Amino acid sequence: MEDDMVRICRCRFEIETIVCWFDENVGRRLYVCCREKYGGGCGWKAWKDSKMSKQAKHVIC
Ligand SMILES: [Zn+2]
Repeated sequence: MEDDMVRICRCRFEIETIVCWFDENVGRRLYVCCREKYGGGCGWKAWKDSKMSKQAKHVIC
């Protein structure tokens, strides 16, 4: 619904969408501050996808 919004994290940089590949969250997309990977950033993060069903996980694997 809100995917067309420009999303800005708390330190006012653009956020990135990454895909989580560990634990029970495999394949789930996550918004993070784009500076996180450089060791800076504000630590802002939020799930883009709601929790995936077991069925969806099975398809990905
Ligand atoms: Zn930030």
